[in-house]
Amino acid sequence: PMFVGDELIGVLDVQGDVVDRFTEEDVQVKTTLASQIAIAVKNARQFEAQLAVAAQLREVDRLKSEFLASMSHELRTPLNSIIGFSEVIIDGLDGDLSGEALIDVQAIHESGLHLLDLINDILDLAKIEAGHMELDRNPVELHIVAEEVERTTRGLLKDKSTVELHFAVPADLPLLDADNRRLRQIVKNLVSNAIKFTEVGQVTVSAEPTADHQFVQVSIRDTGIGIEEKNLDMVFEQFRQVESDSTRKIGGTGLGLPITRQLVQMHGGSIWVTSEPGIGSVFAFTIPVVTVAITD
Ligand code: ADP
Repeated sequence: PMFVGDELIGVLDVQGDVVDRFTEEDVQVKTTLASQIAIAVKNARQFEAQLAVAAQLREVDRLKSEFLASMSHELRTPLNSIIGFSEVIIDGLDGDLSGEALIDVQAIHESGLHLLDLINDILDLAKIEAGHMELDRNPVELHIVAEEVERTTRGLLKDKSTVELHFAVPADLPLLDADNRRLRQIVKNLVSNAIKFTEVGQVTVSAEPTADHQFVQVSIRDTGIGIEEKNLDMVFEQFRQVESDSTRKIGGTGLGLPITRQLVQMHGGSIWVTSEPGIGSVFAFTIPVVTVAITD
């Protein structure tokens, strides 16, 4: 019998064509062999079972991502109509509103936009995880992307007169091999975070080619609350926010950085952060430059 503990795995059947072919010693050797084979067979069965479970988990994960992707898509249609119609009302196209009614509709409009941001983040992450996110890569001028981001993020400084925003992105950088829209999303996420977590000082965006000229490195430096060393890796994980009073006063989903990292990595670049609590943080990432194939 092939036993592992009390469990009978099988039977090792050895036959000879001569009477008394096996000596006592042969029997002992075969018995030892049987128990070793039993362990090997059991390990192999467990391994097979683990592979099956891993495959099932992957499938469940894929279904989850697909569900999220289609749900977020369905949620956006009615939401866009809430946002659109509240704009129509605010613009007075349906007649004048009393002061208080106008403030309420503006709140509906702002909440709608906020919800749309969240849904877009969930949709992006689900798309990336389901393997449906594709980059539309073309030669991109970083300084133009930076100007666009500057225009859209200036508004975040409305109530922060103590924070200055500087963009120092040279116009003569090499062209980037990037998806224009996604690159804008990466820079915008990092600049928005930098502004969000800075009360006084500067947020500076700079860029330069790496030493090997294969990439351009973009750095977003702030003089904000900073991140403790033990939390530096955590900030790139989904739904993770550094727990502290100051960060919790500030809204967010904890999806911005995971999406940003995925987008950078899909481009073949990398992203990292250095930070000192109370002094500030630097988020930096690289994106490959366009390489020209030389043919003769
Ligand atoms: P969100 O900003 O929506 O919470 P993110 O994924 O963008 O999610 O960021 C995760 C967490 O990382 C934030 O909640 C915050 O605690 C920390 N963090 C990100 N950027 C900065 C920054 N520039 N300075 C300090 N902390 C930051």
